[in-house]
Amino acid sequence: MSGDNEKTKNPFIRGEDEPMAPDEAGPISPAEDERLLQQERERRAAEADMEVQIIDSVRDPNSGPVEPVRLRPEHSFCFSCHPGVPCWNVCCFDTDITLAPYDILRLSRRLKMRPAEFLSRYTVPAVWEKADLPVAKLRCQDREKGERMPCVFLDEEKGCTVYEDRPASCRYYPLGLAAVKLKGHEEPEDFFFLVKEPHCKGHEEDKEQTIAEFRKEQGVERYDLENRGWIYLLMKMTSWNVLGGPWGKKLDPRTKQMFFMATTDVDGFRRFVFETRFLETYDIEPEFVERLKTEDELLLQLAFDWLKHILFNESTIKLREDVLKEAIARARRGTGAA
Ligand code: SF4
Ligand code: SF4
Repeated sequence: MSGDNEKTKNPFIRGEDEPMAPDEAGPISPAEDERLLQQERERRAAEADMEVQIIDSVRDPNSGPVEPVRLRPEHSFCFSCHPGVPCWNVCCFDTDITLAPYDILRLSRRLKMRPAEFLSRYTVPAVWEKADLPVAKLRCQDREKGERMPCVFLDEEKGCTVYEDRPASCRYYPLGLAAVKLKGHEEPEDFFFLVKEPHCKGHEEDKEQTIAEFRKEQGVERYDLENRGWIYLLMKMTSWNVLGGPWGKKLDPRTKQMFFMATTDVDGFRRFVFETRFLETYDIEPEFVERLKTEDELLLQLAFDWLKHILFNESTIKLREDVLKEAIARARRGTGAA
């Protein structure tokens, strides 16, 4: 998650020594500042130890006991999935797969389309309940009522047609990924858990491997790295929801819409950066501004940093000095200070 070390390396911040403003409207008055600090203290006091399943992997909610054991990378389990198993592709029916931002980039590239087209053809909008934030889920193919519905990318004879770019959730199966935030710790930690559904015969195979080996073999490490900011946002919003939302307020629909755009459609977010007053408002190194024109992964990281800033007032992106001065003057006028 985005710890202090990560923040100091943040390419979107020129210097770390100046104060940050809380939102696009500029800095807040001392009284308001104290009220926000008090609410953050209350959030920390109210939050419990929290385990949030980011990738839960369960395909059939009626079938699968999740082993309630928190596994770490060095722990082992027995499992193998290959075309010889009697259940080959069974787990690709009736799926409930939330796509992480990097899944969308990879799948769009594979299908040679931009994310907006990918989203409209292959996904359905949904809400990630615990955080009450909008996400995209993978569609299933239409079937007669009562029939099991294959994933939109399943060819029932050949298997997964996007295998090399399959989503993180498919790579993880039968593992789940949970972010665990312990009371008093600001940063969540990752844990893994095993999902044993009766239809999955891979658990009867005798291939033993550690979680770390399985993750490497499945190529999830890059996915986790690229999606880390998004996982952090889900986790932090879940934690804030203990108090009814950030600073005690539910997010308004427009902010949710911005969250969805920034985390699913890099082109939409790129237009937001280059075609609004974004670059006049935030202080971003010219070298990075240039790279943002073509590097989707970098743009995604900017989107996460911007969202951390506007949702949680984190110092992940910096206002330009002239904007900051103007905002301070506005705040002073508002409080009657000189
Ligand atoms: S993306 Fe591929 S692996 Fe994942 S559910 Fe669909 S067909 Fe199966
Ligand atoms: S072994 Fe499990 S993961 Fe592999 S195809 Fe069968 S149900 Fe899917």
